[in-house]
Amino acid sequence: MPNADFLPHEFIHSWNGKYRRPTELYQPDFATPQQGALLWVYEGMTQYLGSVLAARSGLMSQAQFRDVLAMPASYLDYTPGRAWRTREDAAVASSILRDGKPAWSNWKRGQDYYTEGEILWLDADTLIRKTTNNQKSLDDFARIFLGKGGNTGPLIVTYNFDEVVRDLNEVTPYDWATFLHDRIDKINPHADLAGIERGGYKLIYANKPNPSEASLSGKDAGYFDGVDAWYSVGLLVSGDAKILDVRWNGPANDAKLVPGSKVIAVNGQAYSGDLLRAAIRDAKGKSEPIHLIVQSDNFVSAVDIDYHDGERYPELERVEATPAYLDDITKPLASSQPAPPKSTADNN
Ligand SMILES: [Zn+2]
Repeated sequence: MPNADFLPHEFIHSWNGKYRRPTELYQPDFATPQQGALLWVYEGMTQYLGSVLAARSGLMSQAQFRDVLAMPASYLDYTPGRAWRTREDAAVASSILRDGKPAWSNWKRGQDYYTEGEILWLDADTLIRKTTNNQKSLDDFARIFLGKGGNTGPLIVTYNFDEVVRDLNEVTPYDWATFLHDRIDKINPHADLAGIERGGYKLIYANKPNPSEASLSGKDAGYFDGVDAWYSVGLLVSGDAKILDVRWNGPANDAKLVPGSKVIAVNGQAYSGDLLRAAIRDAKGKSEPIHLIVQSDNFVSAVDIDYHDGERYPELERVEATPAYLDDITKPLASSQPAPPKSTADNN
């Protein structure tokens, strides 16, 4: 399931990225640097359409699509680096942000043009559906934008920002230039959740992981086996008790915890992931802080986290009596079974 969008993603790249490519990402020689300002189209729209195709083709269910969508949407919404860095600036810096290290990535931002592009194109898709009474969608844009030039041999056809705007306007007239500028090169402290809300859902925080997030946990499954307490105390702790990242300005950050330290004890007992989760739950509504002992290099110190709102995990909740565009988007376009072949009895 976690890799359900892998094949659809790369399939989409045949058109979006390999055939249509931003002018500044198509260099005629090795001396000219690439410039990634339009990666929210190259990777962002591919991320969106790849996930949509994974659901439409049954590689993941519609419910799994929503569960999985809740995770980047919440992470983006809780990325404090948004307060100083725009989407476009982080895309231009892609080559130096591509280090794969989580530490402080919520403050410096990273390659989140994938996921931010995903929720931006969901915003555009639901906006087209709403303004056209669900008669048109991003599929119409894809036919125009990706289908230029007809059926050709291998070829790279470049584009720029203005062409994206023109093609969106061909689907349905709107101030698309402002729509995109507002989301790409302006400072937005919060994530663009309009597509989820127009899609008939809202992002909420529950006290346990959603079913898909839960299935992505556990060493046996080969996935992350640590503690994801990102939306509560603001900590990501590995299976071997190492602090992988601390949410900037979160409760753990206020307690001066830093990535790279190791958690030795929770409330006077030797550390385990279950113990940390239980401590977060038990501190809810009480005044006593969560007591940790942490080790940095050879130094051991006691740290108190003053946090009392319990565990928090993202999920999407249906808003009843609103159009569920999100479900229209993720259902198959055609019936899943091809028509059975006609009887061959009369054939030779
Ligand atoms: Zn890609």
